[in-house]
Amino acid sequence: MKETILIVEDEEEILELVAYNLTREGYTVRTVTTGEDALKEVHRQPPDLMLLDLMLPGVDGLEVCRKVKADSVSRDLPVIMLTAKSEEADIVTGLELGADDYITKPFSRRVLLARVKAVLRRHSDAVPVDENTLVTIHELTINPGRHEVLFNGEAISLTLTEFRVLHFLAGRPGWVFTRSQIVEAVRGDGYPVTDRSVDVQIVGLRKKLGDAGRYIETVRGVGYRFVE
Ligand code: CA
Repeated sequence: MKETILIVEDEEEILELVAYNLTREGYTVRTVTTGEDALKEVHRQPPDLMLLDLMLPGVDGLEVCRKVKADSVSRDLPVIMLTAKSEEADIVTGLELGADDYITKPFSRRVLLARVKAVLRRHSDAVPVDENTLVTIHELTINPGRHEVLFNGEAISLTLTEFRVLHFLAGRPGWVFTRSQIVEAVRGDGYPVTDRSVDVQIVGLRKKLGDAGRYIETVRGVGYRFVE
């Protein structure tokens, strides 16, 4: 039995298309067209994933996301936002509120299914990555205990902040993080990391990582992601 997905979308055509594609893939689909109904549905019977349009009449998508993530009952519900390309600021806000990912309209069936699958998988085999977890990905080994990064067995020397940024991103491959989320994650020892200085850290990191630098992707207008 596949997962249950709640689709929140006021545009009938998009709603039908998304519902059709997910149903065909074997998911159980529930649909609502307003933010109010989305919140009711989440409380009535929590789905395994919510696809959430941001531009809704009445209670909008960001407000739905805020409420869902503020409630201990629904906090862990994975949320993928459905957005317009022009809604970059809202995408950033949504990610910071705890949404897992976003899909910009218009999107293909392939992108829709890939994102849904990826987010469900991340949630089902999520191993908590704390600051002491050893991370191995691609040809990289990131060892916080030793403050050591190996690429194809060769040591790469990083500053403490660069190291923390890399460890944070590489420990959660595929996730998009905003600059503020990265700042929040690597903050410590009173080191003044700011949104802007995240960009500087990334530039430095990519340079030092050489060939492995390409694994850190810039997500334009939003933030950064470590390639899965
Ligand atoms: Ca809409």
